Amino acid sequence: MIVSTMQEGALTTQLLVDRMTSIHAHKRVFVGVDRDISPRTFAETAARTRRVAGWMLASGLREGDCVATLLWNCHEHLELFLAVPSVGCVLHTINTRLSAETINAMLAETRPRALFVDVGMAQLFEALTLPAETTMVVGVSPSGTRPAMASDSPVLDYTTVMAAATPLTRWPMLKEQQACAICYTSGTSGKSKGVVYSHRSAILHAIAMLGVDAIAMSEKDVCFPIVPMFHALGWGFPYAACMSGAELVFSYRNSDPASIAHLVHTCDVTLATAVPTVWSGVLDAVRRGDVNETDLKSLRRLPIGGAAVSEDLVSGFEAMGISVQHCWGMTEVSPLGLVSSRRAGVSDEEWRALRMTPGMPLPGCELRVISEQGHEVPRDGRSPGELQASGPWVTGAYFDPASSDGHSGAGSFVTDGRGQAWLKTGDVATWDTRGYVRIVDRAKDLIKSGGEWISSIELESALCTHPAVSEAAVVPIPDSHWQERPLAYVSLVRDWPGQEPDLKGFLAARLPKWQVPDRVIVLLELPKGATGKIDKRRLRQLAASAPVA
Ligand code: AMP
Repeated sequence: MIVSTMQEGALTTQLLVDRMTSIHAHKRVFVGVDRDISPRTFAETAARTRRVAGWMLASGLREGDCVATLLWNCHEHLELFLAVPSVGCVLHTINTRLSAETINAMLAETRPRALFVDVGMAQLFEALTLPAETTMVVGVSPSGTRPAMASDSPVLDYTTVMAAATPLTRWPMLKEQQACAICYTSGTSGKSKGVVYSHRSAILHAIAMLGVDAIAMSEKDVCFPIVPMFHALGWGFPYAACMSGAELVFSYRNSDPASIAHLVHTCDVTLATAVPTVWSGVLDAVRRGDVNETDLKSLRRLPIGGAAVSEDLVSGFEAMGISVQHCWGMTEVSPLGLVSSRRAGVSDEEWRALRMTPGMPLPGCELRVISEQGHEVPRDGRSPGELQASGPWVTGAYFDPASSDGHSGAGSFVTDGRGQAWLKTGDVATWDTRGYVRIVDRAKDLIKSGGEWISSIELESALCTHPAVSEAAVVPIPDSHWQERPLAYVSLVRDWPGQEPDLKGFLAARLPKWQVPDRVIVLLELPKGATGKIDKRRLRQLAASAPVA
């Protein structure tokens, strides 16, 4: 028998910190708070990471302890992204937009020993019931204001903690399979559940992101993750940038078009990532003249994911020379599973349609599409089935401290004949022989009308091609005759001149008559969930509470 001669170096976040010093020391991290931009080099960031790591160990934190953050995108959050797992603790990034009640439920599960909280969130913080284990609270003030929290637990100050800390010179030995961070699913279609990433999964995911047919991030890029760092670890972009040497830009809590354009222009951003609603806001602002198109001229690529992108968004940015990379992912998949990329042999005409799909699975992430009968659907680009995922950065369970092994959620997974576990994503997809996957819908969002399925995503995309429509969401409503009918909610672009457009007529000219919603309701703004995505759960409640004739 021949056995491998390779070394067994563990894939851990410690490698990122070391590489930031040894290879990319001069690269910078920029943070824009209001109009002030503060840069720090990777070397400084790595040194500060070792400092906060030293403080954590000196304060008695030990391997396996949870450390939570209630922070926006800032220098301090990046330092904790690196330091907490590198000392063997587990980072719980709390979504700052959740209610105190929801956060309390999560804290009751993860029971952090330390909490780092933005001092601007004093009101939310005061409403939290911290578990008995949370004996250390550190106030972080990226905008330079001093902590001002009235609380029973003495709140330390990050700057003071850092000044007094002794930097950690030698990392503890870690195993790559141990827990690195926990993130909760966004819960737009159900209860939020904890997903625990390992060091190995985080590093493999970062390596996969760098691939040229993936995000293709290199040290020549300036990467601006607008997506909050609490959402699936900022979709993996901060770690991928630390690994590749791409410079990083963070916008603190701001994702409005003017703040984005200011940072893109000042920091020469080449690559920026956010959910579609953020980008449609930027596109609208450019079209209205509120944002100067030339401020965006350094941008090359926009990896956009979290929800379907519209044709208007893709062609609008293309017209400015910026290409949209449509991505699909979910918290359970770390989060990236699919990234659009033009394969060799794809003609211009084919690409016009294929660029709207989130493309091919990342190498290392296996996907399959399974019919209701439990078989793989034909790869004909037409037959729908449930998208299932498997691989080293796909979760195999949900975090459940009440169960004996800390795991639950068996109903969300299936095991195939070879013993391989597959995550049932709940997304409905088709795929073709070349591996291009098209997301047709969330299983829950499909509308069954008169025995036929109507795709809410297709209706939303069609509505978004109307120049008056800024955002669209379609939900099913019960119907005594048809079983279900689609109901559309839209918001119009700001300052849309004239009357409400005839959107039903617009759809009727493009889609079969039975698919056209009986009503299209215009709202000032569509409700958003804590991650900035349109909250269909609230729209379904709205539709149920105000039934339409
Ligand atoms: P989250 O865990 O919050 O990242 O949400 C994951 C869910 O967002 C997926 O299961 C999909 O339903 C949806 N999603 C993500 N990316 C896309 C996309 N490109 N197109 C359509 N839906 C998407």
